This record gives sequence, C-alpha cells and structure tokens, in this order.
Amino acid sequence: MNIKKKVIVVGGGFAGIQLVRKLDDKLFDIILIDKLNHHQFQPLFYQVATSQIEPSSISFPLRHVFRNKKNVMIRLAKVSGINSTENTISTNIGDFKYDYLVLALGCKTNFFGNAELSKNTLTLKTTYEAIRIRNHILQTFENIITAKEEEGKAC
Ligand SMILES: Cc1cc2nc3c(=O)[nH]c(=O)nc-3n(C[C@H](O)[C@H](O)[C@H](O)COP(=O)(O)OP(=O)(O)OC[C@H]3O[C@@H](n4cnc5c(N)ncnc54)[C@H](O)[C@@H]3O)c2cc1C
Repeated sequence: MNIKKKVIVVGGGFAGIQLVRKLDDKLFDIILIDKLNHHQFQPLFYQVATSQIEPSSISFPLRHVFRNKKNVMIRLAKVSGINSTENTISTNIGDFKYDYLVLALGCKTNFFGNAELSKNTLTLKTTYEAIRIRNHILQTFENIITAKEEEGKAC
C-alpha cells in the first residue's frame, strides 16, 4: 500500500510554485500556504507602479494555477511558528502537520539599518506597494496643478 507523504510548502512565489509543479502527485499530498491567495509576478511591479499595466495582469490566484492538481490544497494563512519536534507549523488559522516542510518565503526589503530610509522611502516588494507608488506619483501630479507657481517649479 502506497501511503502518500504530506508536504507543506509555505510561499506561493516563484520557488514555491515551481516546486509544487514538479513534485510527483503519486507520492505526495501537498498543502501550499501563503498569506496571499495569489501569486505576484514581481518583475512587473515597476509597470504597475508606473500605471503601464493593471495589478490584475500580474496577480494569479493560486487555486487557479493548481486547479488541475488534485493532490494540492491551497490555504490562505500567515505562518508564525514551526515545531520541528512535532512536525507542525502554526498559522493564524490553526496548526498543520507535515512529513516534509519547505519554506519558500522570499525576502524583505533591507534598509541596511538606516531608520530614516525605512521611514521615508517607498518599497516595492508587493503589488500593494506598487499601487502605493502609483498613487503617490499620480497625487504628486495632481498637487502640481494646484500648487503656487514657485512650488510648481520646485516639483
Ligand atoms: C521589483 C522587482 C523586480 C524584479 N525583477 C526581476 C527580474 O527581472 N528577473 C528576475 O529573475 N528576478 C526579478 N526579481 C526577483 C524575483 O522576483 C525574486 O527573486 C523571486 O520572486 C523570489 O521568489 P521566491 O519564491 O523566493 O519569493 P517570493 O516570490 O517573494 O514569494 C514568497 C511568498 O511567501 C509568502 N510569505 C512570506 N512570508 C509568509 C508567511 N509568514 N506566511 C505565509 N506566506 C508567506 C509571500 O506572500 C510570497 O507569496 C524582481 C523582484 C522585484 C521586487
């Protein structure tokens, strides 16, 4: 009797998606967990930030990506802890047990310890942040229209 191993993959970015695609569905049952329910295609964040394309063009629902893989279950959750003795992970929707755990969490913006940078810069690691930059640019153009002449020149 072939009992499938349970794999938990945390992170539906490039790494997590590639792995889940390649794991043999006869050998593994997979739970893909991400704090977002969609994959974000990061190389096109710049185009979203500069209003060239819409966020929906770079957002791919994970359930749609894996709709044909019956051994893959998607869970929208934020992972907060790992208990490697019990083989469980903790999330905001409860604990999950695994045989194998893969962490594919990506990375955070590094401010190299500069608190001023972290306070005063706009980061670009998520679609939400791309939209924030877009709104900031558009708002700045709006401000120019109503600015006094000398302020307008400064912009
Ligand atoms: C603006 C920009 C442009 C880029 N352009 C290029 C390019 O042109 N060419 C290129 O090769 N690379 C490019 N990159 C880099 C490339 O996008 C990354 O190297 C790649 O996305 C990393 O993949 P990943 O799977 O490791 O992480 P990510 O794609 O970041 O995925 C990590 C996933 O983990 C999830 N996650 C994180 N923490 C938790 C948690 N606690 N609980 C649950 N889920 C969690 C996140 O929601 C995310 O979905 C670019 C990156 C950026 C930001």
